[in-house]
Formats: sequence, structure tokens, C-alpha cells
Amino acid sequence: MGRSTKHIYPMLCLIVVLAGVLAVFHLNPSIVQSLPWLSPDDPPSVEQPDNPPEQQPPENNPSEQNPPEENPPENTPPENTPPEQNPPEQDPPEQPTPPKSIVTLTGYYYTYNNMKSDLAELTERYPDIMSYRSYGISADGRELYAATLGNPDAKKQVIVTAGMHSREYVNTFVVMRQLEYYLENYHTAVYNGYLLRDLFDEVCFVIVPMTNPDGITLAQEGIDAIRSENLRQTVLGICGTTNIKTLNDYLNTYWKSNARGVDINRNFDALWSEHNDTVGRPASKNYKGFAAVSEVETAYLVALTESLMNPVASVCVHSQGEIIYWRCFQEGALEVENKRLAQIAQRVTGYTIIDDNQTEPSYSNWTILAHGIPTITVETGLGGYPQNHATMADGIYDRNRDLWAAVAAAYADLAKG
Ligand SMILES: [Zn+2]
Repeated sequence: MGRSTKHIYPMLCLIVVLAGVLAVFHLNPSIVQSLPWLSPDDPPSVEQPDNPPEQQPPENNPSEQNPPEENPPENTPPENTPPEQNPPEQDPPEQPTPPKSIVTLTGYYYTYNNMKSDLAELTERYPDIMSYRSYGISADGRELYAATLGNPDAKKQVIVTAGMHSREYVNTFVVMRQLEYYLENYHTAVYNGYLLRDLFDEVCFVIVPMTNPDGITLAQEGIDAIRSENLRQTVLGICGTTNIKTLNDYLNTYWKSNARGVDINRNFDALWSEHNDTVGRPASKNYKGFAAVSEVETAYLVALTESLMNPVASVCVHSQGEIIYWRCFQEGALEVENKRLAQIAQRVTGYTIIDDNQTEPSYSNWTILAHGIPTITVETGLGGYPQNHATMADGIYDRNRDLWAAVAAAYADLAKG
């Protein structure tokens, strides 16, 4: 037992000391934290107190405080929708969008005034590659406009005419759309291996979209759109009715002449004297006039054509039938060249070539017979009268759009690029 008591005393002393130490730690736990080898957490956490103040910049506070002050006044009224989502949806589209088309249908018809303002806008947008001018004035006081596409000093010119017969007004719209197409794509597009800009640098186009503005205005807008009392009386005398609806429906469907009752296309000095128009007086169509070139619209177009330095081809746009006329007693090289022009138009449009000689006076026959200019008359579309832009224009445009490039390519002296 003596040995056991010897061991008991030291054990008791050790227990008392340990109990004392534990009691002290229990009363003051911070002592534990100051002793790394006793702490439950690892040292790194010690530096945390320094960072938080730096990571909580004062910027966060204002941003949290401001929104509530700004939003309420703006958002208060309706309970509608989260206004914050709308702005981001509208903002993103900053992609390069193509410029809006100028030549568009804003009413039921494409009118003289539409053409006039579109010519001005196109020239403003494309001043380096297009110009336009008045080459005369109609019987009822409307300017006659011609546009130039391409290099105005080009060695060769092609003349395009449309809107000669009143009820064929859809072609003015189509020709204006063609003009805008070539302007839009002037520097980038290629036709059959040729850059458009190279083609129109060699061969410029002189375009008359509406050779008979009085007649077209009469067909589209009715008798009241004619300003001159004398001309209104002429038209009333021809139509034989004063019922305004009957009259305007008639004008829209049957009228081809100018406001004086002369068919401009029968008024040119080619085959004129021998032609029997079977009318003999002012009429809605076919009257050739009391003399060749009696009409101002005819005379100004003659002067415009004769002002061109070197016209190599002429394209006359009429309606309808999807056919191409070209022959008017030509011989030799002119016949060969004119037939080639007709075949080019046939390949582009898919229209049918008519090889019969045309025996009536017309602008086409005059450019061929009086000036030896290869000329085609393209009769666009099908479907009768009155014409409806909305249903006819796209189809005609699609089949005729490339015709100018094809004609330019046929006459430009260029190597394919
Ligand atoms: Zn016609």
C-alpha cells in the first residue's frame, strides 16, 4: 500500500492543477483565442477585420439610396409593366440598316407628285451618280422630267421612256423602282461579270418616267385634277358624260391620250402622214393630232432625244401583253443590231418577240426611222385595265429589273472584271 500512496499524491496534484487551468479558461475564453495551438480556427481569419472596410466602398450606398428616389416619380402612375425591361429591348438594335427605300407606294396610285418628290430625294441621296431636270412643260402646266443615271459625260446614252399612255401608269412606278435599284447597288453589284458602276460609267441612262403627266393624272385622279378649264371642257366633250363617277371610271380604264385628246405616241413624225387613225378628232386614244408633233409633250421629247450626243439604244415601256416589238422596216446593220437588242430584252424578261413590222407612227418608230437608233417597245404585264399597282407592279419589276444592266453591258466596251 505504501507504494500506492506514493503515486496517489502526485496524481492528485496534477488533477488539481488541470482543474485550475480549465477553470481559468472557462472564465476568460479570449485567452484560448490568443493561444494559436489551442484555437479551433486557423490563423488566416485574423486579417479579416482590415479588408471589409476597404471592400465596402461608399459607392454602394448612394446607388442603393438613389433608385428609390428617382424611380417612384417616373413609374408611379400605372401599375402596368416593369418599365425597366422596356428600354433595354429597344436600345440594342444598332446594326447597320440599309437606308429606307424612297420609291414606294404610299397611296393607291403612284402619282406625278410622288414621282416628282422621289426624283428630288433620290438626287439628294445619290448626287454623284444621278441628276434630273425638267426638259419642258405639259399642256396643263406640269414639268416634264428626265433623270440621268450614271456618268453624265459617258460616251454613249440609252434613253428609257414610260408613261406615254395614261392608263399604263404602272410603268412609271416600275421605272422609278428600277432607277432606285441601280442607284442603291451602283458601287457593289455585278451584272453578268460587269460591275454596275463600270457599265454606267461607259453608258449612261436618260430616263423619262412619265412622258404624259396630264394624261396619267387624268386617269388616276379624275377630271378635277386638270387645272385648265379649256382642257377640262375638251375631256368632257370627248367622254360625253358629266356624271363624275362614270366619267372618272372611264378615264381610269380607257384614257390613253394627253389632256387635249391626242395620243402622243401617234403624234411623232414617222409614218405620220400616211397613217389613218380612224378617229380624226380628239379622243381617249389613237388620235394622231392635227399635225405631226402638234403636242408640247411630243415636241419636248423630240428635243430631248435630239440633244443626246450619242444615243445607242432606246427602250420604250408600255403595257400590256408581255411582248417586245422591234421591227419597223430597218435594213442592214440597223436591223441586225435592233434584233440583237430585242433578243437581249427577251432573255432578261422572258417576254415574246414580235417580228412583224410596226406600221403606225410612234416614238419607237421615229427613233428608228428618223435617227437610226435601235429601239424596242416592251409591253409589260397582263391583266387589263384599270391597272392596280399593288397586284401588277412587283411582277413587272421582277421581270424587267435587270434589263438596263443587260442593255448597258451590250453597248459598253468593257472587259469582264
Ligand atoms: Zn402604250
